[in-house]
Amino acid sequence: MSTDVESEALTTALDLDRTQEPQPDPLIALAVRLLQEIGEDPNRDGLRETPERFARWWREFTDYDPGTVSTLFESTSTGQLVLVSGIQVWSLCEHHLLPFSCSITVAYRSGQRLLGLSKFARIAHQHAHRLQLQERLVADIAADVIEITGSQDVAVVGHGEHLCMTMRGIKTDARMTSTSIHGDFARTGPARDELLTFLHR
Ligand code: ZN
Repeated sequence: MSTDVESEALTTALDLDRTQEPQPDPLIALAVRLLQEIGEDPNRDGLRETPERFARWWREFTDYDPGTVSTLFESTSTGQLVLVSGIQVWSLCEHHLLPFSCSITVAYRSGQRLLGLSKFARIAHQHAHRLQLQERLVADIAADVIEITGSQDVAVVGHGEHLCMTMRGIKTDARMTSTSIHGDFARTGPARDELLTFLHR
């Protein structure tokens, strides 16, 4: 009798074990299917581990963790123009799932709180690690900088190069500039003049 109970308990434990086994990432099967659809043999040398790599890279890209993005310092002087340029990010165009690179410049008028310099890059990378449009990328970054710093005067400029333009379609090298400009930077006046002077340097 006790043996039956014990073996039943064991079976249940084994069943539980089986259900908890990690399932293969469904992206692997998707990659195998993709390779077959484009006339490749997923079992040939060189492609055998490609589906796993494909799945890993997609997970890495979409599960990106930017770390802390909101570390603020008390500012001793307010009203300064802070401009951080040359933040390079890679993202994926949501229309073609092809990469685009973008050089980001973030400017804001400092208030009581200053945002740590590395945080601008973290914010930019965070919004780049999803399917994006360049216009929305700069707008998302600007919205975060406004929210975190509390400053209304924020400008974000992106210069992007899109593989969906250089590799397909019109197949030409071209750069795209998009801006998201807020507060005094968006109105004619000294703040905007100062911003433009720095942006053109
Ligand atoms: Zn595209």
